[in-house]
Amino acid sequence: MSAASMDVIVSLCKRRGFVFQSSEIYGGTGSCWDYGPLGVELRNNIKRIWWRDFVQQRDDMVGLDASILMHPTVWKASGHVDNFTDPMVDCRECKRRFRADQAGTMDWTHYCPATKGNKFTIKGGERCPHCGASRTLCPECGKGELTAPRQFNLMFKTFMGPVEEDAAVTYLRPETAQGIFVNFDNVLQATRRKLPFGIAQIGKAFRNEITPGNFIFRSREFEQMEIEYFVNPHDQLDGRPADEAWHDRWIAECQSWFTRYGLDPANLKLHEHLGDELAHYSKRTVDLLYRFPMGWNELMGIANRTDFDLKQHAKFSGKSLTYFDEERKEHLVPFVIEPSAGVDRALLAFLLDAYQEEEVRGEKRVVLRLHPELAPIKIAVLPLLKKRAEIVATGHDLRHRLARRWLTLYDDTAAIGRLYRRQDEVGTPYCVTVDVKTVGDPDKGEAGDGKVTIRERDTMQQIRVPMADLETVFGRLLDAGTSWSEVAAGYPRAEG
Ligand code: ATP
Repeated sequence: MSAASMDVIVSLCKRRGFVFQSSEIYGGTGSCWDYGPLGVELRNNIKRIWWRDFVQQRDDMVGLDASILMHPTVWKASGHVDNFTDPMVDCRECKRRFRADQAGTMDWTHYCPATKGNKFTIKGGERCPHCGASRTLCPECGKGELTAPRQFNLMFKTFMGPVEEDAAVTYLRPETAQGIFVNFDNVLQATRRKLPFGIAQIGKAFRNEITPGNFIFRSREFEQMEIEYFVNPHDQLDGRPADEAWHDRWIAECQSWFTRYGLDPANLKLHEHLGDELAHYSKRTVDLLYRFPMGWNELMGIANRTDFDLKQHAKFSGKSLTYFDEERKEHLVPFVIEPSAGVDRALLAFLLDAYQEEEVRGEKRVVLRLHPELAPIKIAVLPLLKKRAEIVATGHDLRHRLARRWLTLYDDTAAIGRLYRRQDEVGTPYCVTVDVKTVGDPDKGEAGDGKVTIRERDTMQQIRVPMADLETVFGRLLDAGTSWSEVAAGYPRAEG
């Protein structure tokens, strides 16, 4: 399990510029987050590799970027207007609002009668060890009664056009999926695809969550990476109906994607929706759970949504959303498998899993062992001596050269040991150090050797490499995926 607690990650994110609270100078919102200079890079890297792996490198996928505001009937047809609700309860005393299903699992405040009314915080679901009571009142203030559950729609309402009237009401999309369904026929006509094929989309979604929290895990504005994979339900694959076989394939694909980019398989598990938990339109839904610090929680979901969405949109729009099966000479409504992941939850899981504290020469070292493809900064160029003009100039020159291909940073604001630690803490896989030997010392009549030191983050090994080789070396390490040990074997070790 990751060593990181949520507090440690929240503090690292703020201190190093990954994530800030939205509108912080006004006291923050507590339910929306802003991504800082390193956060935006990490976020973009997650989205870029997801898009590359699931869209660009497959021949059965295409992309889409639908608008956030859609025709309001979309949300009638999809069922969101009537059913996208959570039962919520209110505290009659402090007026706080909770999801009915979460009030029972939260840590709760208790004024214990057996100890003269002393105040205790008791773990969610547990009884008071002194008086044996279980929670009945508000978990937060411990005083107020909770109202009976009421349904609360999670969609944000807004008005389209200049008049604020009922006819102009529309919604900020609570998921990106519906933008794909309403464009199914457009994409089919434009691309002449044969089943099975998928449409992917990455974009913002908005939910007026009753209890946002756990940092970026649950916010009111977040981003999704969704795929709708359309399958002919009459086809057979692996000796089973194609939709069932494709569902299993997508579950395996998603799981291996997260482990490929660094998540420890021991921190991932599948959760099968059973009984009441299974949505009425779903034939089967499986969540991929991650072991977050607050417990096992959903990282993403993979659902077999059958032909429900296309049929609903056909019914409400009056347009045919079918596919013509040339072989069987029949029109059919495809089934759809939906892998749906949150960018923010993925980012949180990658950070938690990568975070490590270790002891190096008697000192604590914090290192983010992020996969190089995810790392916000790929290379840091660091001068060993700031007062030597040639060292600084060479450092700037190298940064400029390397930045054409990889995000490269120049930093000379501290001593070298400190600079290394700073890069370790934000997951930079490689540091390049320019020193006196690189540029030489004219006072002593010494010519430079034109070589720099490359230090690798995880092993802290250092090698001496000619500057002319840097593009080739980093091309192998960062683009071709060649291992550090293989590349390092070709160069002499430098002193650590
Ligand atoms: P939960 O049960 O946690 O509310 P959900 O089952 O409603 O999630 P889906 O509708 O399946 O979530 O959305 C797909 C993915 O979108 C989720 O697995 C998650 O990664 C992300 N997601 C959903 N709601 C939020 C949110 N409020 N904040 C951040 N990410 C979210």
